[in-house]
Amino acid sequence: MRKAPHIVIVGGGLVGSAVAWHLCHLLTTSAAITVIEPRTTLGAGLAYSSRDPAHRLNVPITRMSLLPDDPTHFQRWYATHHLIEHDPEAALADGRIFARRSDFGYYMQAQLAPLLATGQLSHRCTRAMGIAPRGTGYRLELEGGEALNADLVVLAMTHTPPTAPGRLAEILRDHPRFIADPWRPDALKTIRADDRVLLLGTGLTMADTLASLTRQGHRGSVTALSRRGRLPASQTTIEGDGWGDFSTAPATTALTLVERTRTAILDAQSHGRPWQHVFDALREQAPRVWGSLPLKEKRRFLRHLRPWWDSGRFRIAPQTQSITDQRREASTLDVLAARIVDASIDDEVIRLHISPRHCDQLIVREFDALVLNTGPGHERLFVDSPLLASLHRQGLGHPDECQLGIAVDNDSCVLDQTGHAQPRLRVAGPLARGRVGELMGVPQVTLHAQTVAMSIAQMINEKASQTSHLR
Ligand SMILES: Cc1cc2nc3c(=O)[nH]c(=O)nc-3n(C[C@H](O)[C@H](O)[C@H](O)COP(=O)(O)OP(=O)(O)OC[C@H]3O[C@@H](n4cnc5c(N)ncnc54)[C@H](O)[C@@H]3O)c2cc1C
Repeated sequence: MRKAPHIVIVGGGLVGSAVAWHLCHLLTTSAAITVIEPRTTLGAGLAYSSRDPAHRLNVPITRMSLLPDDPTHFQRWYATHHLIEHDPEAALADGRIFARRSDFGYYMQAQLAPLLATGQLSHRCTRAMGIAPRGTGYRLELEGGEALNADLVVLAMTHTPPTAPGRLAEILRDHPRFIADPWRPDALKTIRADDRVLLLGTGLTMADTLASLTRQGHRGSVTALSRRGRLPASQTTIEGDGWGDFSTAPATTALTLVERTRTAILDAQSHGRPWQHVFDALREQAPRVWGSLPLKEKRRFLRHLRPWWDSGRFRIAPQTQSITDQRREASTLDVLAARIVDASIDDEVIRLHISPRHCDQLIVREFDALVLNTGPGHERLFVDSPLLASLHRQGLGHPDECQLGIAVDNDSCVLDQTGHAQPRLRVAGPLARGRVGELMGVPQVTLHAQTVAMSIAQMINEKASQTSHLR
């Protein structure tokens, strides 16, 4: 009798769990599916495991769904479970709902529960530490010394903890209020109500941290600092699809792409549409747009335009924005475009030498706490993840040319050191960004997870039908 193939998904956040969900529904032949995930539940990952009620989805619930073909799936689940009654602040006067991130995590958990209960899916609550080829498949080393054999592996372990700039991390390492990872549960609890706080980074993570601090009663002064001092853009209240065609004769230079974006924004505005709809169109058409840029232009885009793109593309929930606005109005939030050039500690006071942008003079500021809000340290992926270090060592995989994730082909098969695609070793989600381009928001990552699952299911279903014909 033919042995059922064993598919192992490493990482049970939103993406790994979405791949598992689709595989369970697409496979027409028996297969064992295991998700390796150190968290006790599947589906939430980093973004949706936060239990802080101040952490909200940054898009309305109508734009969040596990199922790309059923965009209101989460919205209906949210209504059926009457979640708004527990969180009335989620609803805005215009009818949009920006739910708590934890609610999306519970939704994901609920979608996976029946598959776990029937045994269609297994969860190994541990971490994969190494990988090696074994026959036509792979052998995964698990934390604690165990191993797991797989016929096919999907890598879906996206976000790594943030990394502090080298010297700063060294100097502040033992300080009781140096928070290197603001996503840890209770990470901010050592910060006292009147502490002077420096938030390093001015994006969405900073806004979440500020909301958490405010919720826990912090009333001292907060300084948010980044090189450009750019805060996240706000959401638009105008409903509508993406605006602009970037796919027909796509731009082949970063500069042309910027020019086309500017033209599309002017055009959108002349039709009463906001600039946000143009960014939405760019996100939807990203695979074509990104795929048309030569490597040199991709790197140019990342070097010069990424801050501009990120601040327009990652937008803030209105509830979170109003906290930022209130703290600015109350003069307890100051935003600085600057960089830290030196740091020292004197009796738990953190003294920073700061070089403001466009200014030759250094300033010195004192703080009682410093929180790193620079987002995941993706640039250290192959260093910090033992699994990816092992993948690299074995010659099974390497970083993509833009250092955004793992090098893959168009089917998200990992490329080995000779450039050969491995159909039994795939990447799902943001770690495939180097090939796909924009791949971070829920609509894009759930679609990518579905596409990867469909390709795997097709391969396995075809193999099974060939074997049965031979019998
Ligand atoms: C804070 C935050 C808020 C966001 N908010 C929104 C939003 O409101 N709307 C939106 O559209 N998008 C949002 N996003 C973006 C988006 O939803 C995420 O990019 C997406 O959740 C990625 O999911 P993932 O499963 O690929 O990654 P992750 O959430 O990072 O999950 C990967 C999982 O892999 C596990 N793992 C890691 N290494 C190993 C290993 N060696 N072995 C086994 N398991 C491992 C981790 O424990 C983790 O649970 C947000 C992102 C972040 C970081």
